[in-house]
Amino acid sequence: MPESPRSIEHRFPGVPTLEGAGVRLRRSFSNNEVPLFDPFLLLDRFGSSNPEDYLAGFPWHPHRGIETVTYMLEGQVEHGDTLGNAGVIGSGDVQWMNSGSGIIHQEMPKRADGAMSGFQLWVNLPAKEKMAVPAYRGLTRADFPEVTTDAGSRVKVVAGSYAGTEGPVKGISVNPTYLDVSVPARGSFELTPPAGYTAFAHAITGDVRFDGRDDRPVAAGETALFGPGGPIRANALETEARFLLVSGRPLHEPVAWYGPIVMNTQAQLVEAVRELRGGDFVKHRRPIVEE
Ligand code: MN
Repeated sequence: MPESPRSIEHRFPGVPTLEGAGVRLRRSFSNNEVPLFDPFLLLDRFGSSNPEDYLAGFPWHPHRGIETVTYMLEGQVEHGDTLGNAGVIGSGDVQWMNSGSGIIHQEMPKRADGAMSGFQLWVNLPAKEKMAVPAYRGLTRADFPEVTTDAGSRVKVVAGSYAGTEGPVKGISVNPTYLDVSVPARGSFELTPPAGYTAFAHAITGDVRFDGRDDRPVAAGETALFGPGGPIRANALETEARFLLVSGRPLHEPVAWYGPIVMNTQAQLVEAVRELRGGDFVKHRRPIVEE
């Protein structure tokens, strides 16, 4: 018997949030939702055509114990970090940053004539990797394969694979799949994440209906978390639907969270804060010496 589709079990409309030095964004899920999205911790969607909403940016701040994944839809963000990386994340680009034991970086949106928009997803690290050497992947839009299905859907593969086409982000413990999917009006799209994996979708534009017990359309800006089952089947309505589809292997480990630092125990958070004050938070700076 074919497995029944994964149905939507929770919906998150996104909460207006002020973050960084005063950036207006919509927070889809965060620490209140732990452990629902395990291994994912947070999804922010930023976007505005008013530079006053974003120019304050995210000045120098620390991270430890997580990966931050920035995906720009439009506009540009300048960044710099304690590994010595510096550059601009542009439209269609992805920065996949593994903070490991500690990184201090800044993310500063540049003034745009039109809109500036994108996503930041936080991916948790397994306990045994939280104090590992930080790593940084800066990928440009040309790095991502795009698959066109027989039904006319376009699938940009950031991480994981779709229909045998692999994305450039590999070697991550929670084995994430990160797709940007556009389904034409009245078209459909299907993906079957591995059994036991967490999977969610975030509607970027257009309404999208997913098969299952709760098949009410997911509106643009809304995030849908799927329950267990087989395939995820998405159906566009009268207009093209574009959405992120993300899945990953849950860690089932304790989460201790303090702002931009996510560890397993309270003691580890206390230690991180002490190190921040003491100036020895960052363990690795470029050049990274083999050890
Ligand atoms: Mn950051």
